[in-house]
Amino acid sequence: MSESTRTDGKFGPYGGQYVPEALMPAIEELTDAYERYVLENEDGFMDEFRQRIRDFGGRPTPLQRADNLSERYGVEVYLKREDLLHGGAHKLNNALGQCLLAKYMGKERIVAETGAGQHGTATAMAAAHLGMPCEVYMGRRDVNRQRPNVFRMRINGAEVNPVDTGRGTLKEAISETMRDWATTVENTHYVIGSVVGPHPFPVMVRDFHRIIAEETKRQSVEQTGGLPDAVVACAGGGSNTMGIFSEFVEAESVGLYAVEAGGSSLSVDEEEGVAPNSASLSTGSEGVLHGARTRVLQDRDGQIMESHSVSSGLDYAGVGPELANLVDTGRVQAVNVDDDAALEAFHRLSQDEGIIPALETAHALAYLEEHEDPTALGETVVVNVSGRGDKDLEAAIEETERRDLPNAPSMGVFE
Ligand SMILES: *Cc1c(COP(=O)(O)O)cnc(C)c1O
Repeated sequence: MSESTRTDGKFGPYGGQYVPEALMPAIEELTDAYERYVLENEDGFMDEFRQRIRDFGGRPTPLQRADNLSERYGVEVYLKREDLLHGGAHKLNNALGQCLLAKYMGKERIVAETGAGQHGTATAMAAAHLGMPCEVYMGRRDVNRQRPNVFRMRINGAEVNPVDTGRGTLKEAISETMRDWATTVENTHYVIGSVVGPHPFPVMVRDFHRIIAEETKRQSVEQTGGLPDAVVACAGGGSNTMGIFSEFVEAESVGLYAVEAGGSSLSVDEEEGVAPNSASLSTGSEGVLHGARTRVLQDRDGQIMESHSVSSGLDYAGVGPELANLVDTGRVQAVNVDDDAALEAFHRLSQDEGIIPALETAHALAYLEEHEDPTALGETVVVNVSGRGDKDLEAAIEETERRDLPNAPSMGVFE
């Protein structure tokens, strides 16, 4: 098993701690706690995390051979079923890990940001499980668009604070949460939702998701007699990607593919400051976003652009610094698929395997579906099924009806 060691949080040109002076004490305290509890298992922290993510979360999740997709693509397709984790996505690994860490640090209050509401929901569940009060910042526009998740958070006892600045989406919610944290750090921990933000967040979030890769590696050896030839995962901020890649980075024989949201087009409108995609690895450039240097979607003046994806969980203008560097060094291939392809793959997995995937996850599957020769990836391919699609049904129906997809069922049952 490979293990994390202390780092300064720099990955090639990326990473670091680009935060206001007021946040530095909080960041330093957190770095110290991360090193002691996560890296050194002080007071048995990691043992308690593993016990809770098993009993509360439902780990280990299966590695399932997809019989029908294997036949269709001519490769052995295995699905890592993170959709079966409590909450319906991989996000609980990180949310539970950070809430538990906050408890060990003696913090009494949790704050988090959320875009579509998935991370907020996972954090609200983890905080309720551990008996901690939780406040979630969410852009006003997202609050209106994602009502079921707002209710889920409130039912789990969290307070949801709508953010009215800017466009009222994830970017503003993150800034607002950082502002809260800067003034409440004495008793509060900020649970960030992906492998982004200032050090130690990217490595810490990766380490809580590393359990995906540990299980995948063990299950692959047990079920197939060896490591897979390729691992494919969708990349928004990059947490499910870094989670499932982490044990394979050193295993040179395993191809690693991070699938970004190509949206409706890869071209960007610099004048309008709009990118009709969320492909920061493929089309972004070096910049600073939310406390770290990384690849971001920005205009010529360095203003962060509005991103787009049919999948709200991939709709982010940045990406984790470690993943950005793994792409630069050639260890990870950054690829992308567009909205149409993701929807087609959404229906493919539902019809062929009886699994309705999250629209984020559908991007990873679309990479196989779109590939002119999937056998070029190797004999055995693992796809990370990062989440289930229940949350996306309405969006998927609406987006399917606007398109002429070759494999979509008729949605007109209400007419
Ligand atoms: C949030 C989310 C993602 C994107 O986040 P990453 O940090 O890139 O993993 C992907 N899939 C699902 C199901 C999600 O909820």
